[in-house]
Amino acid sequence: MTGQRVRDVVRRLAVEEFGAQLIVEPIPSYQVLTRSRLDDPLAGIRSAREVQAVARRELLDFVNEARAAGRSWDEVGAALDLPDGPDDEPRGEAAFVQVIERREAMPSQDFFRVPATSWRCGSCASVVQDRGPFESHPEDNESGHASDCARQQAAVQEWRERTGWEE
Ligand SMILES: [Zn+2]
Repeated sequence: MTGQRVRDVVRRLAVEEFGAQLIVEPIPSYQVLTRSRLDDPLAGIRSAREVQAVARRELLDFVNEARAAGRSWDEVGAALDLPDGPDDEPRGEAAFVQVIERREAMPSQDFFRVPATSWRCGSCASVVQDRGPFESHPEDNESGHASDCARQQAAVQEWRERTGWEE
């Protein structure tokens, strides 16, 4: 339930500080359950970003407080729920890297994974793999749109006009 309470805080902040409205709608095929979403996801981004920044400062303050009180880096790592096994980086070192150097320890197999996120397109309702805005052609950035997706067709058309290229 902790996650649910933090989600409520993020949504409330989006409404009270960033001008969003909370839309409560029934979940299809459930009679009593509802779900809520924000009318403006960008307000949700601003709100979540704010909560993240504050939590980040709180984390650093509490780590310093724990160290001042004589707690070890290993205990800090345990509180962070970091793994502690023979094959792992020592937990205390991993805690320092994460909190002070602000790096996430990256498992080696992730090097070969192409970073991407996915969402259901509001235009064609297909699940789209989104690899970020790094490439020029829209289809190199987003795959999975239906072939007649109006949004993707508009993006390709915009790309043709901008670049003067056909494909
Ligand atoms: Zn689409």
